[in-house]
Amino acid sequence: FKPVDTRLPVKHTLPGVKDIILVSSCKGGVGKSTVSTNLAVALRNLDLNVGLLDADIFGPSIPKLMNLHGEPRLSDRGKLIPLQNYGIQTMSMGYLIPNEDSPIVWRGLMLQKALQQLIFDVDWNHLDVLVVDLPPGTGDIQITIGQMLKVSGAVIVSTSQDLALTDVKKGISMFNKVQIPIYGLVENMSVFVCPNCQHEERLFGDRGVLKEAKRLNIDYLGSIPLNPRICTSSDEGFPVAVDPNESLAKPYYEIAKSLI
Ligand code: ADP
Repeated sequence: FKPVDTRLPVKHTLPGVKDIILVSSCKGGVGKSTVSTNLAVALRNLDLNVGLLDADIFGPSIPKLMNLHGEPRLSDRGKLIPLQNYGIQTMSMGYLIPNEDSPIVWRGLMLQKALQQLIFDVDWNHLDVLVVDLPPGTGDIQITIGQMLKVSGAVIVSTSQDLALTDVKKGISMFNKVQIPIYGLVENMSVFVCPNCQHEERLFGDRGVLKEAKRLNIDYLGSIPLNPRICTSSDEGFPVAVDPNESLAKPYYEIAKSLI
């Protein structure tokens, strides 16, 4: 008999979770966490049971975006019970660090252990979908998650700036390597409409994400305008998608629908 190739990573499903979606960006600051959060809220309001996992271990932002703080309790089985707001179950390294200002100094094994805990030691309760907010880039955490989890697909967030788009290609090849299908590209901060004269300005370039999606033959899932209200709502821990009638919520719902 041929020996079993033990180098092949075994991909796991998570108990209590039907589907896993990754939200990734190859560059930092393009709005990945904002998209993850609003996407999770939109999916919830489309009647799905949704979880949101903040895999950005060094820069967790989900606690702030979801207005959730405090330490998770442990279930009878010794697993972390997700903190919940807007009907969404969430878990983040941010809940496990005592003080928001304390630096995270884990490296190597400690980091792997923390990540494993966030992934495998959470008591998700009957989720239709778990949205995972990945750290930016194509580093160890992203690859570990990609290798360990059976994922339905990844959404890649970018602006139309050349620099961000160059990194998108790296992200795509990473997902190809770990055999994760890509749902498509989301263009964030596509256009700024002047509140006084309604002039439209494409600050980060003209439809670069759309062109790149065509070139790479992957889907363009939609665009979200640059609007200060998206930023202030996030800062207040009240994602715009919480109110489905809010005009700024619309693009997030369209993207959410395109995934179902
Ligand atoms: P990332 O997760 O990619 O680092 P964030 O989601 O934290 O990015 O967003 C970076 C900053 O940009 C935050 O202050 C956020 O509120 C803001 N932001 C994100 N998307 C938009 C948008 N469409 N319009 C205005 N501000 C945005």
